[in-house]
Amino acid sequence: MTLPLDHDGFLRRECPHCEQEFKWHHGPASEEAEQENDPDTYYCPLCGHPAGLDSWWTQVQIDQIQHAALPAALQAMEQELSGMFRGASKKHFSLEQTGSFDTAEAPTPLVEMDDMTIIISPCHAYEPVKIPEIATSPFYCLVCGSPFAV
Ligand SMILES: [Zn+2]
Ligand SMILES: [Zn+2]
Repeated sequence: MTLPLDHDGFLRRECPHCEQEFKWHHGPASEEAEQENDPDTYYCPLCGHPAGLDSWWTQVQIDQIQHAALPAALQAMEQELSGMFRGASKKHFSLEQTGSFDTAEAPTPLVEMDDMTIIISPCHAYEPVKIPEIATSPFYCLVCGSPFAV
């Protein structure tokens, strides 16, 4: 299960506080970034509130992840039911298993558009983010939450 990045290597994120979308760079953006430890917390570039690393999924990404898990769960259930029916027929019950679960169609793969504008904070320039074109200053550093204007 992989989530798509845009052509600059950015991953779409949604702030759990202000529910606005932005993107952060996936993986180290430079050699300098590689030297840094991954922080436990990132700050929303749009509202400045911090949240843990796992708090930034967009609704579309959550749907995608849940769909990816679904077919396997259905198949496991179907096998279990088939086993029950086999056991039942031995005892001469006239049970018939009709049809089977439709295997859920694979969801359309997500496509990441090359939208939004790259901004770079003056304090942590190695961690660029993309923000919607309509967003206005101040913005907040992803790494430390310091406000800055572009
Ligand atoms: Zn926010
Ligand atoms: Zn900073």
